[in-house]
Amino acid sequence: MGIQPGRVLIVAGSDSGGGAGIQADLKSVMALGAYGTTAITALTAQNTLGVQGVFPVDPAFIARQMESVLDDIGSDAIKTGMLHSAEVIDAVADVLEARCSDLPIVVDPVMVSTSGHDLLEPAAVQTLTRRMSLVATVMTPNVREAEKLTGLQITDLDSMVHAAEMLRTTGPQAVVVKGGHLEGGEIMRDVLASGSGTRVFEGPRVETTSTHGTGCTLASAIAASLAYGLGLEELVERARAYLYTALRTAPGLGKGHGPVNHAH
Ligand code: PLP
Repeated sequence: MGIQPGRVLIVAGSDSGGGAGIQADLKSVMALGAYGTTAITALTAQNTLGVQGVFPVDPAFIARQMESVLDDIGSDAIKTGMLHSAEVIDAVADVLEARCSDLPIVVDPVMVSTSGHDLLEPAAVQTLTRRMSLVATVMTPNVREAEKLTGLQITDLDSMVHAAEMLRTTGPQAVVVKGGHLEGGEIMRDVLASGSGTRVFEGPRVETTSTHGTGCTLASAIAASLAYGLGLEELVERARAYLYTALRTAPGLGKGHGPVNHAH
């Protein structure tokens, strides 16, 4: 028998183009040495140019997928991504509360694709805050998502820090505000707010249009490291380093925002 890898249950939407969603999650989790299982919340017809359609999965069947995985394979960490509607959030949060309260849970509050398509019904943002903040160990909004969750306008590092600290008071043990969407500058910053204070991570920004799925990738990389029991600061460093190389070696596929490279 081989060494048992950390297991990550990914609850998210499928991206037919393979760049974001479940596909990015599975590739990242595997590249970081963990074992990924999935509960698919919605299918998207999607490529690097945008989202051409969304086909939601019945909330009861999403819960069924989660239970099938938990009943047999088990999990060391959970990652949630696109949850699409208030009904899906309720179904997923019910299973997480009943079955996963002792596990680290990474909640990536996916709302709108880079191409501008709603991946969460706008009316469901309140349900996301109410249900998912309470189950989250780590919440990983990008700047635009953090704005919607806090009502703040985020224009610089100070407002990112403020948003991260404010979101942490809603329930998660830690919040990582991902700074990739902030315009300008040669530095890419992410902010971690946790019980031991606030830390800013800095590194060079990679100039590329291949940014599709970067948010999913960072959140999954964090979940994979949590499955191995890494400390918070160390796992954010590890996830950032993984994403940096994935961006630098992006394969340049498609005519729009292409995927990053997970085979490195
Ligand atoms: N499609 C799906 C299914 C996703 O889960 C996500 C995740 O954020 C996206 C698209 C958005 O990816 P991006 O904002 O990088 O285009």
